[in-house]
Amino acid sequence: MAQTYDFIIVGAGSAGCVLADKLTANGRYKVLLIEAGGTDRRFWVKIPVGYGFTFSDPEVNWRYSAAPDPGLNGREAYWPRGKVLGGSSSINAMAYVRGLPHDFDDWEAAGATGWGWENVRRSYQALETNDEWHEGRCRLRGSGPVRVTDLSARMHPFARNFLAGAQEMGWPFLQDMNARAEAGANTLPGEGMGYVRSTVKDGRRWSSADAFLRPALRRGNLTVVSGALVEKVLTSGGRATGVAYRVKGQPEVAQAGREVILSAGAVNSPQLLQLSGIGPAALLQRHGIAVKHDLPQVGQGLQDHLAVSHFFWANTATLNDRLGSFAGQMKAGLQYVMTHKGPLSVPVNQCSGFVRTKGAALPDVQVYCNPASYSTRANGKPQIDKGNGFLLCVQPSRPTSRGQITIQSADPAQAPRIEPNSLSTDEDKATAVRASHLLQALVQAPAIQAVTRERRVPDILEMDDAALLENFRERSGSVFHATCTCRMGRDAAGSVLDARLRVHGVAGLRVIDASSFPNVTSGNTNAPTMMLAARGAELVLEDNKKSPLAAE
Ligand SMILES: Cc1cc2nc3c(=O)[nH]c(=O)nc-3n(C[C@H](O)[C@H](O)[C@H](O)COP(=O)(O)OP(=O)(O)OC[C@H]3O[C@@H](n4cnc5c(N)ncnc54)[C@H](O)[C@@H]3O)c2cc1C
Repeated sequence: MAQTYDFIIVGAGSAGCVLADKLTANGRYKVLLIEAGGTDRRFWVKIPVGYGFTFSDPEVNWRYSAAPDPGLNGREAYWPRGKVLGGSSSINAMAYVRGLPHDFDDWEAAGATGWGWENVRRSYQALETNDEWHEGRCRLRGSGPVRVTDLSARMHPFARNFLAGAQEMGWPFLQDMNARAEAGANTLPGEGMGYVRSTVKDGRRWSSADAFLRPALRRGNLTVVSGALVEKVLTSGGRATGVAYRVKGQPEVAQAGREVILSAGAVNSPQLLQLSGIGPAALLQRHGIAVKHDLPQVGQGLQDHLAVSHFFWANTATLNDRLGSFAGQMKAGLQYVMTHKGPLSVPVNQCSGFVRTKGAALPDVQVYCNPASYSTRANGKPQIDKGNGFLLCVQPSRPTSRGQITIQSADPAQAPRIEPNSLSTDEDKATAVRASHLLQALVQAPAIQAVTRERRVPDILEMDDAALLENFRERSGSVFHATCTCRMGRDAAGSVLDARLRVHGVAGLRVIDASSFPNVTSGNTNAPTMMLAARGAELVLEDNKKSPLAAE
């Protein structure tokens, strides 16, 4: 006999954990959370520098590959995604970036009524506990479950050179890149460079599972089933009624009295809708799937960020000095085990910020500077170089290219086809070149030149515009911010969800995760995904108060 729950949430990632918490908090609803991956209680998940290990570990990672991408000279990009409690928040690089105010005003303009900056800002505030500096002392601001930590005191001293170079570029220092108020007279709010804030608490990763799921598990009304692949949403008479899933090969069914909520992420939520007969009719028919609801935009609109990194040898010590040798690793490991401090307790992304390319009205590039250099091994794992190095990186932050996710068969175990369609607009090609100009200028800033022993090949200073674009096509990579594949919008012709995150034309079904973004935000996508889920939970609770199905 299938069990019945009020709400079924598919995917215990950044968004799903938030929903599990918020929907069980009032004690009225029975909630089932189903996750394909397993436990996150793993050493390399918890330790911030473990990023390099979970990056390609099949135990916690879907390890997708994108299709050959014409905009990237036919390269097939590696697409890691978390397959573990906490989802991608358990394997990500931990940068906590809200996005810029105009990102959310753009959401509202795209039809996501109610999602403008002033509203989402309040949601962020409720979500976070931040480190705040006041007269030279650090204290906590806020009381939300997401711990956003300033790790600058633990970062490698080499990082100061980046901020000095940024100042020489005219980019102001931001104590907190998520705070709006600090921009100078000639800069826009959020514009400038600073130390990255991270979802780290007491030297350990603080994922969405840590912030939301663990506390919710103490309640009796939440059931979590892990190691379970949801195969489709069950529908009847135009309404979602439950899900079919498989645990250790055995088929199972669970019924939803109120709603099914997909939080399976930007790759798997559209895949699940398509497997369930909700998507572009021609695609579903091609794979022999009965069309329950023809919704052409399911899987369309994919947006992601591309970044290009350049590596340099330094004439002074960088993080490589501490992590590039066996002895250094042992020392750092011992320090971490004894104190939860030291280089292993800090993510490698150390300085970042949003800046404007020439002529841009708004910040259109995110810059990253890391006091370490590495190469990628054949198995996909990054390996810290021997010798002191550093990297400078630019990422156009407001791409206009859009790709798609489509099923390749009716088999839920087969990965969907990921087509990023990178650099497919003239605007994106032009921004890639302008962003590269910024990088060329930063390389030549006196503070950076002073610590550069050698520019490594390919040397960005040797490149003209054509070569810069070719460099981007040949060397840039995803920074894993897949979004928008079930985006909110005005109507079914141009979107998948309404502004309350309900699937157009199917009752009792929402998608609440990174796929619901109308446009990718300027920065890293974990914070906006958790914010979206927290607001989404409020909408679910509001609508169910009114719902005639409510058994209160
Ligand atoms: C390697 C990497 C580094 C990143 N670095 C950063 C960073 O530093 N800062 C930042 O802000 N963002 C970063 N991101 C992006 C950010 O983590 C994601 O945008 C965010 O976690 C997406 O949340 P989500 O809830 O949409 O999906 P996810 O967190 O991916 O959750 C989806 C969950 O659904 C589960 N699932 C999928 N399909 C099924 C199914 N059929 N049945 C059952 N369960 C299923 C998955 O296993 C997963 O647990 C990074 C991402 C990656 C992959």
